[in-house]
Amino acid sequence: MSTPAPQPEHGTGTPPSYPLAEAGELSQLQGLHSAELTERYNASLMGVFGTPQRVLVRGSGCVVWDADGREYLDLLGGIAVNALGHAHPFLTSVVSSQLATLGHVSNFFTSPTQIALAEKLLALAQAPAGSKVFFANSGTEANEAAFKLARRNDGAGTGTPRTRIIALENAFHGRSMGALALTWKQAYREPFEPLPGGVEWVPAGDVEALRAAVDESVCAVFIEPIQGEAGVRGYPEGYLQAAREITRAAGALLVIDEVQTGIGRTGAWFASEGIEPDAITLAKGLGGGFPIGALLTFGERTSSLLSAGQHGTTFGGNPAATASALATLHVIETQGLLAHVREMDQLLTTGLGALDFVSDVRAHGLLVGFDLAAEAAPAVVRAGLEAGFILNSTGPASLRLAPPLIVTAGQLQRFIEALPGLYATATAQENPT
Ligand SMILES: *Cc1c(COP(=O)(O)O)cnc(C)c1O
Repeated sequence: MSTPAPQPEHGTGTPPSYPLAEAGELSQLQGLHSAELTERYNASLMGVFGTPQRVLVRGSGCVVWDADGREYLDLLGGIAVNALGHAHPFLTSVVSSQLATLGHVSNFFTSPTQIALAEKLLALAQAPAGSKVFFANSGTEANEAAFKLARRNDGAGTGTPRTRIIALENAFHGRSMGALALTWKQAYREPFEPLPGGVEWVPAGDVEALRAAVDESVCAVFIEPIQGEAGVRGYPEGYLQAAREITRAAGALLVIDEVQTGIGRTGAWFASEGIEPDAITLAKGLGGGFPIGALLTFGERTSSLLSAGQHGTTFGGNPAATASALATLHVIETQGLLAHVREMDQLLTTGLGALDFVSDVRAHGLLVGFDLAAEAAPAVVRAGLEAGFILNSTGPASLRLAPPLIVTAGQLQRFIEALPGLYATATAQENPT
């Protein structure tokens, strides 16, 4: 196993220099080590994320460095966000020049980047005439917009309000009150009740359960094409198609949450390709690291459910964010990254599948879940950090990878070769003899 050598520049020589250190407060932190920075973090940031695993100061491609100069191969990509890795030269230059030209305008105005991105997304989604886009700033906001859209669906203008929404068990749709109301995990929801009502959950992947739940009182069904937070889990063949037919027959909207799976992550622009949904929500990978979310609505009727004044956001679709997404889409397209992602899927499926302590490799492009023989996933994540790999566990025995779409075969091979050692370290810690 090759452990990346510590970067020589910190401690022994010049500390990494923070861009904008001259801008004030940041200069005080220049040269501080991880322990000191983490202490400052804990004293000043709300503890909702717990203590951060590392303090990161710099990135390049699929590699990041921490404040102590240690190097990591980033196999989580900011949770499926850093599609082009870190500090991608084209993305950096497009966003920088956009900021130097026009960074933000309110939604009393528009700008060419916003229009170009909306048109591009609709084209990629092969959306029919009359389809529209609403830009937000995150996945939760994209789903919040979809929630409001859903509540406007009375079933083709019947005038009879519909309030029931069907979501799936183990679904994750975000943390704002509306998106949270759609999210399955009780521990996330309960402390904040009452949440918007009308949401019911059915077992994921069960066509008959969905059919039984959806009638003409349902305004929408929300589905992730692959459940990411639940451990990268798909459904039996034909499930999404069945959901399409069931919702269409009842006049309910089919909302596909592609916040994690969209924009090339699975080796296709959208994981739900071929389904013809009524709405798709996007965020994570869309801006290549810049915050942006989007709601795509399909067809004239669905696209006019929200009328002027019924929804909005100050930052949504601003020139800098929409430029970041245009740059990201451009690189994915011109570098042939969709095909590359499918190749890397094969490599991981084969490589991980050959390890005797690994089971159920669920590779959907570069969104990958797999299970370990022992409940050692959090310990493997810790061992990974020590050895220079950023990983993620979605359960006691489940790991998730969502590396940049530009990750190389060599980098993935290095991880596959290191994994037995990480697992041995992790299980030795779990079962001390
Ligand atoms: C991450 C995620 C969200 C929430 O997105 P945020 O940008 O964190 O608000 C919603 N849905 C899915 C499927 C996600 O993976």
